Amino acid sequence: MTPASAPELLDRAGSLNPQHDLFLAEHALTPAERRRLKGGPQANGYAAQPGSGPAGETCRSCSHLVRKHLAKTYRKCGLMRHHWTGGKGTDVLSSAPACRNWKPLSDPEMTGGAK
Ligand code: SF4
Repeated sequence: MTPASAPELLDRAGSLNPQHDLFLAEHALTPAERRRLKGGPQANGYAAQPGSGPAGETCRSCSHLVRKHLAKTYRKCGLMRHHWTGGKGTDVLSSAPACRNWKPLSDPEMTGGAK
């Protein structure tokens, strides 16, 4: 029998018995435990890069901010409405620095939206 080459070992690494993987025991976690350990999805539903808007402004002071009141209050960017899911990944932090699409709350072009 010839010894395995390095690329061959790398190919086989994914199929090793998980019981041999004592220090990377991620396989023993439930999906919920895995999400909790890794911190879960982060709020990333911004219309543009946070901080690319006017200095000193935040999503809180933007007329595009939408607060969805369900069991909790979820903050979403109204400009990203067509991308919204029920998950945290499409939320925004109201304290996030404003993006370049920021509009003041008193913008007459805006109707409805954030409270
Ligand atoms: S600043 Fe306004 S437009 Fe930009 S992500 Fe926040 S809520 Fe949306």
